[in-house]
Amino acid sequence: MKELLIIGGVASGATAAARARRLNNDVNITILEAGADVSFANCGLPYYLGGDIEYRSSLILASPETFDDQYKVKVYTNTQAIEIDRENKIVKAVNTETKEQHTFPYDSLILAQGGKPIIPPLKGVDKKHVFQLWTLKDMDEIDLFLYENNPKKAVVVGGGFIGLEMVEALVKRGMEVTLVEMAPQVLPNLEGEFAGFITKELLDYGVKLKLGTSLQEVEDDKVILSDGTSVETDFVLLSIGVRPTLQLAKDANLELGKTGSLLVNEQLMTNDPAIFAAGDMVEIEDRVLGKHIRVPLAGPANRQGRIAGENALGGSRVYKGTSTSSIVKVFEAVAGSTGMSLKAARDAGFSADAIVIHKVSHTAYYKGAEMVSVMLIWDRATKKILGGQVAGYVGIDKRIDVLATAIAGGLTIEDLGELGLSYAPPFNSPNDPVNMASFTAVNHDTGFSPSILAQDLELFVNAKQPVVIDLRDPITFSKAHVYSSNNISQGSLRENLDRIPEGAPILLISDDGQKSHVVLRMLKGSGFDEVYNLSGGYTSIERHERAIGYKHLSAGLFPITKKKIKDETGLTDDVEVEEEQQIADVGPVIIDVRTPMEFNLGAVPNAINVGLDVLKRWAQELGDHDREIIIYCATGARSSYGVRLLQQVGFTNVSNGGSLHEMIERFPLD
Ligand SMILES: Cc1cc2nc3c(=O)[nH]c(=O)nc-3n(C[C@H](O)[C@H](O)[C@H](O)COP(=O)(O)OP(=O)(O)OC[C@H]3O[C@@H](n4cnc5c(N)ncnc54)[C@H](O)[C@@H]3O)c2cc1C
Repeated sequence: MKELLIIGGVASGATAAARARRLNNDVNITILEAGADVSFANCGLPYYLGGDIEYRSSLILASPETFDDQYKVKVYTNTQAIEIDRENKIVKAVNTETKEQHTFPYDSLILAQGGKPIIPPLKGVDKKHVFQLWTLKDMDEIDLFLYENNPKKAVVVGGGFIGLEMVEALVKRGMEVTLVEMAPQVLPNLEGEFAGFITKELLDYGVKLKLGTSLQEVEDDKVILSDGTSVETDFVLLSIGVRPTLQLAKDANLELGKTGSLLVNEQLMTNDPAIFAAGDMVEIEDRVLGKHIRVPLAGPANRQGRIAGENALGGSRVYKGTSTSSIVKVFEAVAGSTGMSLKAARDAGFSADAIVIHKVSHTAYYKGAEMVSVMLIWDRATKKILGGQVAGYVGIDKRIDVLATAIAGGLTIEDLGELGLSYAPPFNSPNDPVNMASFTAVNHDTGFSPSILAQDLELFVNAKQPVVIDLRDPITFSKAHVYSSNNISQGSLRENLDRIPEGAPILLISDDGQKSHVVLRMLKGSGFDEVYNLSGGYTSIERHERAIGYKHLSAGLFPITKKKIKDETGLTDDVEVEEEQQIADVGPVIIDVRTPMEFNLGAVPNAINVGLDVLKRWAQELGDHDREIIIYCATGARSSYGVRLLQQVGFTNVSNGGSLHEMIERFPLD
């Protein structure tokens, strides 16, 4: 009977074995696994440590016994392959516990050895309180250490996915956590403003950040950093990257690729036709770039394992490459990317461009709606989508997945706007954020509404010296703005167009880039040629400033919101007690009909917040139908409806105060 031997029994190795068995019942399949477990969910390890996964056993997807029972696959755990004899088609292995050596013959061999976390050669990294997280054994050791020693302070080195997931886990276990990251931002694969969104969440949860700093040494009670500072700690987690496990392949003279990983062809065959490989140890083709890259992620590993399992039995299935997609949750915040970043696209020679939008995850009137931020990156020459980044609290995964599918299908920015995506109020708006990103990209690409990215703001200001007009309400503006920008409402701007210096470039900033787009069109229609929209508005500027920072330009930051982990459910405890709102004895009653969230960000002095849906009921309780009432909102539209509602129930002295901007002019802040 034919022998299929697989080295490595977790993501790609276990998948390869299961697929091979489903295809062929007449082959002997054997897995050699150096560790104590096969087919475990390494992606779930941080969540177990943080308490989100209750049972350790649920991380074990299949045991050697299940493999034997269900698939007739023989699994040898604690068995490390130490040599491949390609000539005689034999693998030598050693039992890591008994040290006994065995040989395993093969007709086809699959290498599925993955990678290993990098341990930097620094003083003190071998101390007992220094850990890495890669296997179930690592997880158990960390769990035991935390249980027995009850450390209070932790340092996580490395702000990638696993590092951040562990930051969350350690905060959930009640520790004070400092994150050390060599790059100037967390999640270096993300654009600055998307990393800025995650940075804010980390700060909100009290995590201390040491960015642009690297670890130099670990001592018993502290770590020493490259900036000369030290951080007290009684627990250290190293999470600075993964190196492919290649010694066996190198010793067997299998060919390596340009990235230094194992080279395979599109059928995942190495330069030896009897040996296939899959997962973190191989390099594969990037779908957009057409170049070889290494993608140490579970999705590609599983899909490759399936193909390697088939082809090792004589199949000829092709692995079509990947447009790398990834996602991470840090506390409540989620961010992810697919395809290329803007920088990677430009470095690869594309004439790449990008826009950013912020749009609600689903209709704002249905509970749970949150802002979704999307960056769409495309090639100006072909209009094809090259990449995307998405961040927010709700519905992030589906937007990344739509963009990943669009890239795989070679869609253009116009095509993306045509996608008919599912809609009902709890799930979406009639135009999904990715549709909106498409409209905005086309508007920019065609010159209809030119925009600049927050990351390019400083360069743009230096080069063009524009008149910077910030259209946000004065309260929000007073909290954070770009130094030397002018705060003007849409209405005043319309009335004062003659005061804008002729021929001067104009840069418009709004909260999220939407109002500024409307005003841009108004200005263009009034004869101003050089008008630009700040893509993503001040939201994007603030995030970029927080993550990367401008060199000479000063942009204010919004305050940190203190968030706490509530209990073992992991829910955030940021519920505020509602204060009773007092109506002034004299003067008009000023009613703000915006949402409580908008109201809490800043309102007219003495205004009370009453939603439109309860306005009539509230007014009946007020009683006095002749009392002067002024209603306002963000733009004057909702308040106009509010005036009608009160007039319907007999109030005689109600007026529309218009926008917050106009109201602040009438009732200035103290
Ligand atoms: C904590 C953690 C969280 C992660 N989270 C995510 C996530 O959220 N999303 C995502 O996409 N990816 C995530 N990953 C990455 C993902 O798990 C890997 O990309 C994937 O497991 C790679 O699969 P693989 O088969 O190549 O290697 P692995 O799954 O690592 O399996 C390789 C196996 O080969 C064995 N082996 C190596 N050499 C030998 C030898 N000589 N003899 C016998 N056995 C050998 C090793 O012991 C190992 O068990 C995470 C990884 C970790 C550790």
